[in-house]
Amino acid sequence: KSLFKNVTKLPNDALFAIKARLDVDTRPNKVGLGIGAYRDNNGKPWILPSVRKAEKIIQSDPEYNHEYSNISGLDALRKHAARILFGDSFDCAKRVVNVQSLSGTGALHVSAKLLQSLGLNNRDVYFSDPTWNNHYQIFGKCDFKASKTYPYWNPANKQLDLQGFLTTIASAEEGSLFVLHPCAHNPTGLDPTEEQWTQILNAIKQKNHLVLFDSAYQGFATGSLSKDAYSIRLAINDILKDYPVLVCQSFAKNVGMYGERVGCVHLVLPESGYTKEDQDALQSQLNAVIRSECSTTPAYGAKIVATILSNDDLYKQWSEDMITMSSRIIEMRHKLVAKLKELNTPGNWDHIATQVGMFSYTGLTVEQVERMEKEHAVYLAPSGRASIAGLNDGNVEHVAKAIDEVVR
Ligand code: PLP
Repeated sequence: KSLFKNVTKLPNDALFAIKARLDVDTRPNKVGLGIGAYRDNNGKPWILPSVRKAEKIIQSDPEYNHEYSNISGLDALRKHAARILFGDSFDCAKRVVNVQSLSGTGALHVSAKLLQSLGLNNRDVYFSDPTWNNHYQIFGKCDFKASKTYPYWNPANKQLDLQGFLTTIASAEEGSLFVLHPCAHNPTGLDPTEEQWTQILNAIKQKNHLVLFDSAYQGFATGSLSKDAYSIRLAINDILKDYPVLVCQSFAKNVGMYGERVGCVHLVLPESGYTKEDQDALQSQLNAVIRSECSTTPAYGAKIVATILSNDDLYKQWSEDMITMSSRIIEMRHKLVAKLKELNTPGNWDHIATQVGMFSYTGLTVEQVERMEKEHAVYLAPSGRASIAGLNDGNVEHVAKAIDEVVR
């Protein structure tokens, strides 16, 4: 009878709690810079023109229906999703096994479950310090040896702590799992340079570590899919070509399909040494994870994304849509910094303009963030992370004035 009595109440998710407070705030000048979701210049969610067109195509197909998908997911999605990550010339048939997943979170979960079911969770897992907090929960549930961090953000100079990062790679137990953000790092907006990626991946190779790229923002850092896949392609074509690499892929942000949960998990195999039988066995293991977790993954969003990726006109439209989103964010970064300069706000704010992707690690303290919310109706994460996508011409001055007030 009392099986479910006295259960520990867990804390609310910090980011969704911010959203809940924002939703009920009646102040007309409220600004949401918490959850990482793109907003247009009127502060509204944006349905990408490429998505609208794909929906029309899908719904006018006489075969249109809501049948179950396959266990491994929509074939066209998996094929084209791999192509945009790994490039047109990559031999996906030989080197990739993949399944569709419940967006990026599901991809991470399937990866962790796969490693667990193969007995490969007997190792430490390393996340950047700081990272997207859900990483800890996802891998924590799959019984890895321990969750650890590698230095990433140096608050003193707001730069990458490369030496700390390399030292930790070198001192980690051989064969640890390293979760890397390939571009548009969440939460800092700070990415390694090409030269730094070479150093990082070489250090990882020296210690035989397993890499998992968590690709949630391809196209958001630069507006270009291939530029944003630089680190992944450097790994699979060059530095780690003799090693397996996991890649988790989300279409939440770059196609604006947040709620439709479209993603994939790809296991990239070494250039040689794996047979067709190995591939089939790995595919069956991935399928088994999907079958027990959700049986099949959602079909509707997958059809939309697959249509965009496989139709030349829609792909072109989508490329423009990504530039629309990434360039509006870059413009807002510059506008915010310019306003802060106009106000003579104490401190240097140039990092807001140089950081990339959806987020800025502003450097505001927990107390200042609380004051931003309480006094100015500007909502951001307690870490000082701001989703720059929430800024627009109508609110950037208000946000600059709020920052100015709380830091003085
Ligand atoms: N990984 C990172 C680093 C993220 O920031 C996010 C979303 O914010 C995700 C994965 C997963 O997102 P989703 O499950 O919505 O695709």
